[in-house]
Amino acid sequence: MARFIFITGGVVSSLGKGLSSAALGALLQSRGFTVRLRKFDPYLNVDPGTMSPYQHGEVYVTDDGAETDLDLGHYERFTGVPARRSDSTTAGRIYQTVIARERRGDYLGGTVQVIPHVTDAIREAVMADTDGADFVLVEIGGTVGDIEGLPFFEAIRQLGYELGPERTMFIHLTLVPYIPSAGEIKTKPTQHSVKELRSIGIQPDLILCRSDRPIPASDRRKIALFCNVAVEQVIPAIDVDTIYQVPIAYHEQGFDTQVLKHFNMADRREPDLARWIEIVRRVRHPEGEVSIAVVGKYTGLRDAYKSLAEALTHGGIANNVRVDMQWIDSQVFESETTAEHLENVHGILVPGGFGGRGVSGKIEAVRFARTRGVPYFGICFGMQMAVIETARNLAGLPGANSTEFGPCQDPVVGLMTEWMQGNALERRAAGDNLGGTMRLGAYDALLSPGSQVREIYGRERISERHRHRYEVNVNYRDILEGAGLRVVGVSPDGALPEIIERDDHPWFVGVQFHPELKSKPFEPHPLFASFIRAAVEQSRLV
Ligand code: GLN
Repeated sequence: MARFIFITGGVVSSLGKGLSSAALGALLQSRGFTVRLRKFDPYLNVDPGTMSPYQHGEVYVTDDGAETDLDLGHYERFTGVPARRSDSTTAGRIYQTVIARERRGDYLGGTVQVIPHVTDAIREAVMADTDGADFVLVEIGGTVGDIEGLPFFEAIRQLGYELGPERTMFIHLTLVPYIPSAGEIKTKPTQHSVKELRSIGIQPDLILCRSDRPIPASDRRKIALFCNVAVEQVIPAIDVDTIYQVPIAYHEQGFDTQVLKHFNMADRREPDLARWIEIVRRVRHPEGEVSIAVVGKYTGLRDAYKSLAEALTHGGIANNVRVDMQWIDSQVFESETTAEHLENVHGILVPGGFGGRGVSGKIEAVRFARTRGVPYFGICFGMQMAVIETARNLAGLPGANSTEFGPCQDPVVGLMTEWMQGNALERRAAGDNLGGTMRLGAYDALLSPGSQVREIYGRERISERHRHRYEVNVNYRDILEGAGLRVVGVSPDGALPEIIERDDHPWFVGVQFHPELKSKPFEPHPLFASFIRAAVEQSRLV
């Protein structure tokens, strides 16, 4: 029977609850346990799919087509367990479920209330689809004390009471700040945060304290005393130089041992952390460095391209090099020349994106990469940009564009209204709702024999995750191929171009899907490994 570990946060947000959860998942796994990780977000959006990357960071897409919080990406990268729709729940989705039940008459005339109806729906979501995992790690978004989080805290409090400490555990992550003027670290915010948690009926079993420096034993004792836990249950979570060090650092502080002790399982075998140690060694001691320009739109917020940055790092790990990422807002190319920014980079990547702002700059970046022989990787929007660039500059179609930006003379990229999902036909119309209506999740593609990507993947059929509304228009395939842009990957029915590449270029690949979502430190995605290898070659030339 699954045991549930609830991870809550206090003092401030952005303390890295997601990473802490992912690291605990990895540690439990390394001791031979099976885990599932899931996240509950108290906001009212039904999912993060409609939220701006500036507000909420990247939208992480699962195989089963859910648009989820980026923390699910951390979970999947650290544990290798594919995230699912049931691993991401928001207050919006909970309310949608409860209101649908009310409309159906399921509540038989009763008054529908936050307690018990909303809390019951949250509890169902916590317990659902756990697959018999040994441990289910449940992260509650936001910080304790947020009004919108209250039903979630109440629901997990109830579960803690009903299932008992043998099957539940509460971990609270707080900040222990250093105050320079006093020259000391302060435990008061942690005390207050735990007080807040206890006021809603939750006594944490373990307190994880984020700090930028070691926490003296006297302060740990103080936290223990005021927060009603043993001193070993106050675990310092000190800043580290790479996220892959987090599981190792937590283990050194006794985190996983204390968790297992809570469940009376501490006699189990020691964790095997060899692979984490090896990854950290590679990250800390690269043999070289390549510089990659990421030409996008949401470059002001690093979280907007979280998985992409990780996948590039993994590509570096595969080649023993550090990847220096230069985040460039494509709009700069409207006033400055591309060469100024791109002259010295070893690879150019145009990532996923939406809307017309900055498009001309992205097309310029593609042209620069193509004409200068610089490795080019176009992801989703980046593939569409490459198609438009070739159509306009090589195929004699100056009016080529995507219908995403309005009607145009040559819609080389167009709205997709019908496509096959397995054996079923999916349909959409131009005026449909925006939420959850893109082509989402895992789809297969067939790779052409003799193509570069076929060699990179080492197989004929692949499955990758999608998130887009528009599609390269297969009717232009011959014209594009005549201009040197080969379609080398297609949907199994042949209707949707999935991958393009150029033969007259050292490395020029565009993919309609998001390979970055499946890359892992231990299993760098083949396209990223190959792209970085091409960048290493390029660095020897410039
Ligand atoms: N805006 C494009 C589309 O909807 C690309 C989306 C993306 O890059 N994820 O097709």
